[in-house]
Amino acid sequence: MRILISNDDGIFAPGLAALRAAVADLGEVTVVAPESQQSAAGHSITLRHPLIVRRLRVGSGSDAFEGISVDGRPADCVRLAIRNLMSAPPDLVLSGINAGANVGINVFYSGTVAAAAEAAMFGIPAVAFSAGQRENEPIPANEYGAVGGLCRQVLDKLLALGLARGDLFNVNLPPLKGRHPSGIHMVPQSTSGVEDTYTLIGDPEGRELYRLGDQFSHLASEGDSDVKRLAEGSITITPLHVDMTNHDRLAAMQKMAWEL
Ligand code: MN
Repeated sequence: MRILISNDDGIFAPGLAALRAAVADLGEVTVVAPESQQSAAGHSITLRHPLIVRRLRVGSGSDAFEGISVDGRPADCVRLAIRNLMSAPPDLVLSGINAGANVGINVFYSGTVAAAAEAAMFGIPAVAFSAGQRENEPIPANEYGAVGGLCRQVLDKLLALGLARGDLFNVNLPPLKGRHPSGIHMVPQSTSGVEDTYTLIGDPEGRELYRLGDQFSHLASEGDSDVKRLAEGSITITPLHVDMTNHDRLAAMQKMAWEL
C-alpha cells in the first residue's frame, strides 16, 4: 500500500513522526508536509508565490525518516504530492497527528482535516488524526507512542471496514494522561458553534489591534456529537464528505418555479 502522510503542524512536528512510525510497516510511506506551522490554515492554497520544495532528513535514531517539506499550506502539500512529487498516486492519505482537537465547527478551520479532504477530492481515501481536548494543545512527549498506537488501531479498523473512493474520516483522541480512552464512538460533527473572544490589546503605535483566542469553548450540542464524546474521554470517528450541497433544500427548491 502506498501511503502519503501530511499534517498542519509542520514537517518537524512530533505528531507527524509518531503517525509515520505507527504505520511504517503498512507499506511505502511518503511524507510531504508544510515547512512551518499551518494550524487553522483551513483549506487555503498558495497562489501568489512559487512553492519551495525541500527534501530533508527528519529526526534522529530509529524513527528518523526522509521527508519533503513545502513552504505552503497543508492542501498545497497534498495536491503537489499527488500531482508531482509521488511517482504514482497514494492508495491512502493520512493527516496528523494534530496537537489539539479538531471537532465541531473547528473542522472547517483545521488544516489537518483540509489535508485529508484534499485527498478525498482526488478520490483517495483519507483519515485525519487529532489528539487533545482543546485546540492547539501540545501532546505530552511521553504520550506520542501510545497516541500513535491508538491511531494505528483505529486505522486497522477502518482498513478492515474497507476504504473506498471519497472516504474521509475525522478521528479525534482524548488526552490520555496515563489512562486508556473510555470508548470509541461513531458520531456526527457538532454544528453548535463556538464561543470565543477577540481581545482589544494596547499598541504603542496607536493601531487598533485585536487578538483571538484568550477564551474558547464549544457550545453544547443537543444530540450525540464529536464534541460531546471527546469531552467524555472517548475516541471519536466522524465520516465526512466534501459534498457541501444541502440536498434536502435543493430538492425542495427544484420543485419550485424559478423564472426571471
Ligand atoms: Mn495543527
